[in-house]
Amino acid sequence: MLAARRVHRLDEASINRIAAGEVIERPASVVKELVENSIDAGADKIEIHYSQGGKSLIRVSDNGRGIEAEDLPLAVARHATSKIDGSDLLNIRSFGFRGEALASMGAAGRLSVKSRPTGADFASIITVKESNSSPVQPAALTSGTVIELTELFKSMPSRLKFLRTERSESAAMASVVRSLAMALPTVGFELTEIQEGGDHRRVLDFRAANDQSVEALLARVSEVIGSEFADNAVKLDWFQDGVSIKGFAAIPTFSRGSASAQHLFVNGRPVRDKLLFGALRTAYVDLLPSGKYPVAALFIECDPHCVDVNVHPAKTEVRFREPNQIRTMIIKALRTALSDGGPRSSTSLTDAMVDAWHVNGNQGNTDWRKGGRSRSRVVSSTADQKSSLSGKSPQPDAIGDLPPWADSAIEPEVEKVKKYPLGAARLQLHDMFILAENSEGIVFVDQHAAHERIVYERLKDRYSQEKPESQMLLVPATVELNESEFTRLIAFEKPLSQMGLEIERFGPTTMCVRSIPAILGSEIDCDALLRDIADSLKDTGEALALERRANSVISRMACHGSIRAGRKMAAVEMNELLRDMEKTPNSDQCNHGRPTWIQMKLKDIEKLFGRR
Ligand code: ADP
Ligand code: MG
Repeated sequence: MLAARRVHRLDEASINRIAAGEVIERPASVVKELVENSIDAGADKIEIHYSQGGKSLIRVSDNGRGIEAEDLPLAVARHATSKIDGSDLLNIRSFGFRGEALASMGAAGRLSVKSRPTGADFASIITVKESNSSPVQPAALTSGTVIELTELFKSMPSRLKFLRTERSESAAMASVVRSLAMALPTVGFELTEIQEGGDHRRVLDFRAANDQSVEALLARVSEVIGSEFADNAVKLDWFQDGVSIKGFAAIPTFSRGSASAQHLFVNGRPVRDKLLFGALRTAYVDLLPSGKYPVAALFIECDPHCVDVNVHPAKTEVRFREPNQIRTMIIKALRTALSDGGPRSSTSLTDAMVDAWHVNGNQGNTDWRKGGRSRSRVVSSTADQKSSLSGKSPQPDAIGDLPPWADSAIEPEVEKVKKYPLGAARLQLHDMFILAENSEGIVFVDQHAAHERIVYERLKDRYSQEKPESQMLLVPATVELNESEFTRLIAFEKPLSQMGLEIERFGPTTMCVRSIPAILGSEIDCDALLRDIADSLKDTGEALALERRANSVISRMACHGSIRAGRKMAAVEMNELLRDMEKTPNSDQCNHGRPTWIQMKLKDIEKLFGRR
């Protein structure tokens, strides 16, 4: 039990230690604050050295404008900054503004700040330990600023205890540098570990680009996230009501199991903000299965007055003045970019896909399961899609069970049709997959998944335009439901009719189906359809917005109206499906976010056979 005490003021050192705890949580926070200071000082070359996960040393050197000798004591004092005058906290254009970082470091460890400002004849240094600063002294440095922090948390054992292994602290530092580097392609960054024996190990090395162009931005982003991302991303370039949203978002099949690959920036500042993450999730909601997160790097620029960055001591959260406006805009920008991207499928095989390709070993090893497996790539193409085969109508009966290449009407077309992104259908496999040939290689299409997406997008389109195209059933179908299914359907009667599904009360719990959306075709099992819709209305609950519930219903409908796996398709029909896919937005994934097609490049196939 704590002894009762009178209220008293804490001493300066305790105040500083407490305040320091807010800003400096771990070595990565030191790196973040120091690198941000270098960027604020206009540096375009920033070098970071550390040892023992940052616990024994963090040193940041830059070629920025430097600090005047007489300003050094103030720079390391609390609440002292050169960046704002305090009159307008909503007009902040620099990373720093709180004037706390250096002071906090001086409380949390042993800090030295050495600088030679532009035009000065000599450099100066100040050191701080336990918030006591030394007098300013002359030092040797040709230009810029070098800030060093050693003995981090030595006087704060509680903090020291909470640090993770050197490895994870090092990883956290690297991740801070990566995220700052992403927004600033014109700044060069080097992260180096000084190892125990004194050896230097280069962890990151991002060279400065000459300009801040979109190309430079993408190059930096893909350097940071990995070049695969660039191959699998669509570009965003959105401007509305003074807000610009630029960046790159991965196509849905290139997703991750967590949100860690979502990089969001507001006015150049990396943020981990709930509102922004939520907008990203919503934009991909019917493109990704649950538990999958899109990879993205989004740069939002707006008037500093529209966003408050002073929400969090580490400045990683922001508050928008018009959160809904920003949210809506992000969703729109993402959706537009994703649906304009042309047909694309993931360029890398997942492990499961790789497992599906059993490859012979290199030394004639016939046991292919043990043999070397080479990692292949599937690459999307974006050839133009001007002409179309869609004038032809499907005639499955006329062609019967003959293989597609026996259809002489198709063969001469192949060379022409191969030029389409998804190519010319050549064969149906296992009554499930379409094998097509395009100019890049071969394409596999999951016929059910692909058609389901097309039906879904059309229904959604119709629904949003309030132009339901429905077909009357010759004999209205009656469906016996249970009470709760019945009530849910009645409650949703109007939106359903807007989708082209006309239902009517027929008995206490009997529903009569008068017409169904035309696109679902004539072989619909009304009984199963209604039950499924009732089910989906239960899953989505009353609380969800109408649009979300409607999408969920449409998704069920689409499933019922789609070409099933197991159905034989004629060549014309398969080609029609491919052309439809090329025209339909988001058709590279089914409604559940699985890919609808994959491609293998010819050269990769040749590699598998050892021809290359
Ligand atoms: P803030 O960044 O919020 O102003 P800091 O404690 O991080 O507060 O830094 C205090 C001041 O020291 C800054 O306002 C800036 O004038 C100066 N400073 C810090 N680091 C550098 C640097 N690398 N180059 C030039 N000036 C710096
Ligand atoms: Mg700062």
